[in-house]
Amino acid sequence: MSALQLTQVSKSYGRGATQVHALHEVDLTVEPGELVAVMGPSGSGKTTLLTIAGSLEDPSSGTVTVGGMPLSALSRDGRAAMRRRAIGYVFQDFNLLAGLTAAENVSLPLELDGMDARKARGPALAALERLGLAERADHFPDDLSGGERQRVAIARAVVGERRLLLADEPSGALDSVNGEAVMRLVRETCQGGVAGVVVTHDAQLASWADRVIFLRDGRVVDQTAPAVGPDSLLGADPAR
Ligand code: ADP
Ligand code: MG
Repeated sequence: MSALQLTQVSKSYGRGATQVHALHEVDLTVEPGELVAVMGPSGSGKTTLLTIAGSLEDPSSGTVTVGGMPLSALSRDGRAAMRRRAIGYVFQDFNLLAGLTAAENVSLPLELDGMDARKARGPALAALERLGLAERADHFPDDLSGGERQRVAIARAVVGERRLLLADEPSGALDSVNGEAVMRLVRETCQGGVAGVVVTHDAQLASWADRVIFLRDGRVVDQTAPAVGPDSLLGADPAR
């Protein structure tokens, strides 16, 4: 069963003369464990694609299924529950809550889903540890570097039993070393069976993906599978 399937998805904003066609009949299937990079110029529909895949917005036409479940078959509450449980979303500007520690930021989706705070700390610490942040768990975002904050945002997106990781230019605010580290972490997360869709405008970073799709004016214009992925390097670099 595909982790994510978009079929003939179109999205328009506004009406009449000012109408914008942000997406045109986009087809995209992502399997569990697969990492897809999305590239394209500013305004080409990358963020729209991600927000529709993440059920944050509805398509104007076409269907979206997550883990085999058509989003249109879910109630508003059902979609919200799916976002808390199954879909991790990494925003470009991190969106961490300044008044919560790293661990509290990461456990928040679990607590919102009804898990007791003490119980939620376990999976939150496990996610932080996977991202090399165990020692930073009780620090507040203001006491963390940009790269550390981004890793906390990723930990929050993968905590618990997520099946789908959506990241909108997760390396956009980072230098190239941290950008590379973020892609490595996303890659490793996908190797654990999570499906990933990552927007980036850095071709070097996109080469971490199994597949790259290019958007232009809301249409998929090209798909490539990089000939040589950096997978073979994963075991070689202890810096994480
Ligand atoms: P990208 O992320 O590739 O830069 P977006 O998906 O943000 O592109 O935007 C695609 C197009 O849709 C752009 O023309 C943008 O102005 C328009 N758009 C995006 N969101 C909205 C919105 N909420 N209302 C109106 N137009 C929007
Ligand atoms: Mg965007």
